[in-house]
Parts: sequence; structure tokens; C-alpha cells
Amino acid sequence: MWAPREVDYFMGRKLKDGDFGPSGLRYFTKADLGADWKMLDADVVHRADKLAQSVGVPVKVTSGYRSPAHNKSIGGAPDSMHVQGRALDLWFTDGAFFSNAARYVSQARALGLTGIGLYQGKPLLHVDNREKPGSWAKLASGKMVSLAEGLGRAAKTGAPFALIALLLVLLFLAVKGSKGPG
Ligand SMILES: [Zn+2]
Repeated sequence: MWAPREVDYFMGRKLKDGDFGPSGLRYFTKADLGADWKMLDADVVHRADKLAQSVGVPVKVTSGYRSPAHNKSIGGAPDSMHVQGRALDLWFTDGAFFSNAARYVSQARALGLTGIGLYQGKPLLHVDNREKPGSWAKLASGKMVSLAEGLGRAAKTGAPFALIALLLVLLFLAVKGSKGPG
């Protein structure tokens, strides 16, 4: 589905000091974006900044710009958007990522982030601003599958945690209730 890109005027330029002013980025600081922050594309950072603001949980950048050598050393795809400075990996640090991943993906898409990726078992969302929309999920084995399959697996990962949390609450209430007066 086509939608107008909200901040087109950032397309094709790198991040600069002015982006961090009062009318610029609201969530990420230079320190958050790494030493090579000037190599990052302004458009993708502004979109990711809006995403981080909107999700309501603490978000950290675990990968931004990668030099070709660094990208190779960590096994990144040769054509990785990180090498172009047009991708960020976002770590949702609240421990509830797997239960919320589908919502984060929808929010990222609504903000015009056209490339979306998941890593099985890791609370990370890869976002980029590639021209032709694309998505993927990387299994722990290294195999690439569709984002839909990745989300399905994430939901299954999240479910046991939700169940454990519920059981702990019930246990707490039971213990509390059993104390009684005196
Ligand atoms: Zn990535």
C-alpha cells in the first residue's frame, strides 16, 4: 500500500549536528547512535526516532553504520543497508519484545520504514529505508525465512513468558491471600 513519506526532505543526506536540536530528534542522542553517527542517513534515523518514541518502552541502538570490513567480520549480508548507513538494529530492552513484535513491525511500517528484519531469539528489530520494501527473519541456524514466519515464532517465544508471569501473579495472590488475619 502506497503512503506518502512523512519526512522526505531528509532523503539522501547524512545526519548532522543540527538534527539533534530542539526541533530535531527527540529520542536518540549522538551517543546512542555510535561514534560513526555522521555516516548514518538522516531519513532512517528520524523515522526510527519516531518509532522509539511511540513504542513506550526503552529502546537502544545495537547496530547503526557498519564499515564494509566490520560488516564482513560479523557475517552481515554483503549488500547490508548498514554499510550504506541506512539501517538500525533496535533493542527493545523491557523483556517483552516477543509478545509485542508484531505491533512494533506495524508501527515501523506506518512510519515509512520499508525494510524490516527479525533475528530469532533476540529482542531486536532491524529497520531500514530501502527503496523497494522488503522483510525477513533470520533463524538461529542462519536460515532466512519470511517475516510472517519469524513473527509466528516470536509469538510462540513470547507466550511462555506471558504464562510464567501470569502464574507468578497467581502465586503471589495465593500467598498473600493465605496469610489471613493475625
Ligand atoms: Zn540490521
